[in-house]
Amino acid sequence: MYDIANIRNQFPILNETVYGKPLVYLDNGATTQKPQCVLDVINDIYMHKNANIHRGVHHLSNVCTDLFEQARKTVARHINALSDAEVIFTRGTTEAINLLAFSFGETYCRKDDEIVITTMEHHANIVPWQMLCERKGMKLRVAEIFDNGELNTEHLYSLLNERTKLVCVAHISNVMGTVNPVKQIISKAHSYGIPVLVDAAQSMPHKTIDVQDLDCDFMAFSGHKMYAPNGSGALYGKAKWLNEMVPYHGGGEMIDKVTFEKTTYNQLPFKFEAGTPDYISAVGLGRAIDFMEEIGMAAIEEHEDEIVKYTINQLGGIPGIRFIGEAKEHSSAVSFLLGNVHPYDTGMILDKMGIAVRTGHHCAQPLMDRFGISGTVRASFGVYTTKEDIDALVKGVDRVRMMMS
Ligand code: PLP
Repeated sequence: MYDIANIRNQFPILNETVYGKPLVYLDNGATTQKPQCVLDVINDIYMHKNANIHRGVHHLSNVCTDLFEQARKTVARHINALSDAEVIFTRGTTEAINLLAFSFGETYCRKDDEIVITTMEHHANIVPWQMLCERKGMKLRVAEIFDNGELNTEHLYSLLNERTKLVCVAHISNVMGTVNPVKQIISKAHSYGIPVLVDAAQSMPHKTIDVQDLDCDFMAFSGHKMYAPNGSGALYGKAKWLNEMVPYHGGGEMIDKVTFEKTTYNQLPFKFEAGTPDYISAVGLGRAIDFMEEIGMAAIEEHEDEIVKYTINQLGGIPGIRFIGEAKEHSSAVSFLLGNVHPYDTGMILDKMGIAVRTGHHCAQPLMDRFGISGTVRASFGVYTTKEDIDALVKGVDRVRMMMS
């Protein structure tokens, strides 16, 4: 039994009103709200435990270090990493991918090598690879998608060759909710000896993730999209790669020994965690994972899949609705356009009804170009989304239709 009332009770912000109307929060793909247990853990550290980690001999420093390393263990267990050392804390997906693009690029990539991405990537999984290609004189190859928003895997496979250094693919499209067959893509890429990065920013909040089962080489995700504080997230990498890769940032904590002549680096994962990390947010991430696991990842997935189906069904009844992304495997978000109404106008009118959706290109401009549109309206879901939220959205969109026609 999915106890949605109990879940919603744990999110204080859901009691807020907007313009005097109850908040209907359907912008979870951008960021999720935080449950009381996560807010409490942050507050507790600042009020009773705070001290910089790793470097202290004193009590509070040891307490925070233990909490931080415990959070790493929680993340590692949650994604079934072989070892805690394969989890590098970052500020989120963007930082994780930039870290990888630099460290992987400097270690393994040469002129004329190629990186393969897809048309549906978020800018965070495009621009760092473009920057690497510019630095090294490499080529970015882009796998096509079909009109229904599914990835053309045969086209992706046709791009793989001896020059391909890495395949970088979103697990779930942040715009269309398309779930990509990442396990199959990883297996195919590995048959050519090519490693794969999975951008799990949109899948980690919604699905059971097992990096060993997927056999991905790298995975990036953001804490703030999975009920954790801003400034938390991680890059997972197989130790065999991370051990070989050069560090990204230089500074404190990532070193073994520093002299002016030469510096040697710390072991994993510290080699990639220069400076003071956001240890309090990392602890919050660990607590958010516990929160999701208490509900159960399978239960979350089932609930949200039902919400996706309900949304498509109910919105689909409104004249003039056009869905952007109608993949068979569809999770977590629904994008649409209403006749000729600009997405921004739809978003503005919905806002006045207390309904928060995201409009625009969703940091996926090449995908917008692929569909010949400037943006969409996106409703995206979380553990606390109810059918009543969707009913309010549908009523709101129908009102927009009547106002604008
Ligand atoms: N990748 C995908 C698929 C996303 O949806 C997002 C954010 O929306 C990102 C990467 C970037 O995440 P962040 O801004 O948390 O670094």
